This record gives sequence, C-alpha cells and structure tokens, in this order.
Amino acid sequence: MGKIIQLDDVLSNKIAAGEVVERPASVVKELVENAIDAKSSVIEIEIEEAGLSKIRIIDNGSGIDEEDVPLAFERHATSKIKDENDLFRIKTLGFRGEALPSIASVSHLEMVTATDNHPGSKIVIDGGRVTTREKAPSRRGTDITISDLFYNTPARLKYMKTIHTELGNITDVVNRLALAHPEVSIRLRHNERMLLQTNGNGDVRQVLAAIYGVNIARNMIPIKASSLDFQLEGYISMPEITRASRNYISTMINGRFIKNYSLVKAIQEGYHTLLPIGRFPIVLLSIQMDPILVDVNVHPAKLEVRLSKEQELNQLVSETIKAAFKKKELIPSGFAPV
Ligand code: ADP
Ligand code: MG
Repeated sequence: MGKIIQLDDVLSNKIAAGEVVERPASVVKELVENAIDAKSSVIEIEIEEAGLSKIRIIDNGSGIDEEDVPLAFERHATSKIKDENDLFRIKTLGFRGEALPSIASVSHLEMVTATDNHPGSKIVIDGGRVTTREKAPSRRGTDITISDLFYNTPARLKYMKTIHTELGNITDVVNRLALAHPEVSIRLRHNERMLLQTNGNGDVRQVLAAIYGVNIARNMIPIKASSLDFQLEGYISMPEITRASRNYISTMINGRFIKNYSLVKAIQEGYHTLLPIGRFPIVLLSIQMDPILVDVNVHPAKLEVRLSKEQELNQLVSETIKAAFKKKELIPSGFAPV
C-alpha cells in the first residue's frame, strides 16, 4: 500500500488560504478587486471589528450567473483567463481563481449575486462546505459577507495584531485601490463610521483629497511622460511636504497597486537632494505598459511584479520628477516638514 494520498478540496483550499488570505486586509483586497474586475461603478465596503467579525462588500458589477456560482468557489476556476497565452497578457486584477475558495475555507461566507440574465441566487459556505443554495432575487451585482474570519484556523487568528493595526492595513489597501481606480466610487465604513468616500468621477486629485486632505492634494504637482514602452501619470508632493515612511508612495502598474523597491528608489532619485534624510514624499505614480512587459504571477497576493525593462522605466521616472521640479524652478529651502 502506498503512503501518498490526494488531499480533499476543503483541506487544499485551506492550505492555499495560508498564502492568499494572510489577514483581514487581504480579504478586502481580493473582494474589492473582484468587484473592480466585474466593472462595478459603485463599491461599498462595510467592516466590523477590523474585519475579524464582518467584512461585507456590495457592488453593482456584472454579477455571477446562477450556474457559475458553485464554480466560482472551486480552486483555479476563473472567468479571467483561458489559456497560457492569456497568462502573459493579464488585464484584470485577478486571474488565479484562488481568492473565493481560499476565503470561503477559513470563514462563514454568504453571497447573493445577480446578472442581467439571472434574477439572483444565494450561496452560504461554512468553512469551505456549501450549506445553502437558493434563489434570491436581487438587483444586478454581488453582495458578499464574510463573518468570523479564521474561526477554524486558531493559529492564524492568534497571529492577528490589534484592531488598530488590522484596520490600518484595511484602509491602506482600500486607499490604494481607490487611487488606482478613480473611476469607481468607493465607500469604506468601519463600525458605522465612514472612513473613505470617493465619488467615482475619474479625477485622481479628488481621491487624493479624500485620503490626504484637500490642502495636500491641492499642492501636489501633476506629472506626465511617455516613452516607447511606458506611459506615466501621477501627482508628486512638493519636497517640503514629506513623511517619515515610504508608505505614502503609491505605485500602480496597469491599474494594479504594486510594491517595487527600485521604483521607490527611482522616485527618491528624482527628488535628489531636495528631500531631507529619512523623509519620503507623497507620490502617486500610475504606469501603463504592454502587459507582456510585466510578470504579475510572482506572488500569490500579486503585490510584487517582475519588469522586463526595469532600468528604462526607473530612468523615465527619475527624469520626469526632476523635470517637474526644474519647471517649477524650485529653490530648495529649509521648510519644516508638515
Ligand atoms: P479570480 O479573481 O482570480 O478569477 P476569484 O476566486 O477571486 O478568482 O473569483 C472567481 C470568479 O468568480 C471570478 O473569475 C469571477 O468570474 C467571479 N467573481 C468573483 N467575484 C465577483 C464579483 N464581485 N462580481 C462578479 N463576478 C465575480
Ligand atoms: Mg479575484
């Protein structure tokens, strides 16, 4: 008798969840990205106890056809790519087909969804097992509620930090999604308190104002540049408005928020000696490029990417920022950091 067995779906999803859903903020990220991929124009996010007791996302996107609903919770089931070719030309935020089954395996999940063709259905999943499926007429879109996250993974639950930290991670994630998608109206509420509200009119400066305040947003300098391979657009703070963390530098590639150390370096390089040591600017940089130039399939959370023309991009970024300050004819001065 051999000793190797094939694990069942519930268990293998739970293992995958270890990578995809690290904390409540990762659930929020995956679900809001799904709502954006579904072309929603309004997304409402309701959080209780920093997402550990409840995360509810309501969107007005395409919805899921009734017969597809159970499939959406199968691992590696996706409507976003079809073959290997598509893998190198990712235009959506999702494509791995892992989020829903992973999240469902470590929580109580309830979803009501309706499309233009189907009046609506509801599915309830407890710890990865479907307990209810029924008709549930509703308006087009998806309304998904995650309760008691990590109730069946006590080690993960124990690893959660304070409500303050977990909520901070959630607002970070939502702020960045809002910055990357000014065309979507996003509302974030925590325990009934409104934390973010964008109007979805496509104006990034309005989103910057909603996040950082009107004063900062008003004083940011717009930048724009393009080369054969890249289009850059964004807003940068004046050198006298700085922060103690690089967390205020948001970089997006093709609408996806990414973390890339060398890109942050290139931004700093653009400011050159204008920045005080240990201080960072507030920056929003949105880069468009042919998806073939960027590999997003590097990390399950898709935060890291590999770029094939990284040096050219970094150079364009530094030069664009330098040029923006030259144009402003800035004289570096000893302003106190705000
Ligand atoms: P992925 O986003 O990588 O495809 P997910 O597990 O996040 O994988 O979702 C599986 C599928 O369920 C998606 O491909 C999509 O077809 C559907 N889906 C999930 N959330 C939504 C939503 N809010 N609106 C419409 N369809 C959705
Ligand atoms: Mg997804």
